[in-house]
Amino acid sequence: MRFSLCLLAVAGLALAQTRPTIFLITDAEGVGGVCRQDQVEPSNREMQQLLTAEINAAVEGFYKGGAGEVIVWDGHDGSQTLSTLTIHPRAKLVMGGLGPSMLMERRFAAVAIVGQHSKANIRTGIMAHSYSSLGIQTMKLNNKPVGEIDVIAAMAGHFDTPVIMLSGDRAAVEEMREIAPDAEFAAVKEGLGRYVCISESAKRSQEMIEQAALRSMAKIGKIKAYRVPGPCTLEVEYTTRNSLPVGSELRTWAEVLDDRTIRFRGKDVLEVWQRYRVR
Ligand SMILES: [Zn+2]
Repeated sequence: MRFSLCLLAVAGLALAQTRPTIFLITDAEGVGGVCRQDQVEPSNREMQQLLTAEINAAVEGFYKGGAGEVIVWDGHDGSQTLSTLTIHPRAKLVMGGLGPSMLMERRFAAVAIVGQHSKANIRTGIMAHSYSSLGIQTMKLNNKPVGEIDVIAAMAGHFDTPVIMLSGDRAAVEEMREIAPDAEFAAVKEGLGRYVCISESAKRSQEMIEQAALRSMAKIGKIKAYRVPGPCTLEVEYTTRNSLPVGSELRTWAEVLDDRTIRFRGKDVLEVWQRYRVR
């Protein structure tokens, strides 16, 4: 009797340990009901509420689908939008900037993205940009124009972690679908122009996100990680006002292509991103 109880305990422990940890990365421009520049200020109350509700809906979906832990990274503009006062009671919150690896070396079971916008230069992308709307014109990884979606997926993929779910505007969903066709999606608004959209209601957006998160849990182990083959190049074209500073030619592993464009090289996506981000 005691032996079988012990076995049960061990089995229970193993089950708890195998329950997947989901790493949820958040942004603001792709949240339903967010369509103006003033709304993406981290202190904007309406955006904070809309984003938090979308995150909490996703967290609910992940737990209903069997997640053991959900870790949320406040990924928008300086990581100062979310609060533990209002985040889902069972979610953990990463506050502050993460290094170039984005914590992916922890090899989460899966990554998910909520509130995402598309890369720069996409016609129907609401507030589309690649990392900096004022600073960066175009970013290319291995010659392909990329934004946060590709970089997150590639960094996760470097550590064999798949992206299983994304919510955002329709342009962001299409961008993710290109590299992860089997992931689950919630397109909460359609962009007509940079600051013009047709948005689902907050309630409907949250329902769609919870359902997508729930469905995505069944796909862990079935969706492949997105692998970008090395060696890698990362070309960053800054805007006119952000011409490269004096001395850029001396940066290691970098090549200045013109007054606004610099290209980094690395053996893989992690190395090239580190060389770009760490000065
Ligand atoms: Zn962003």
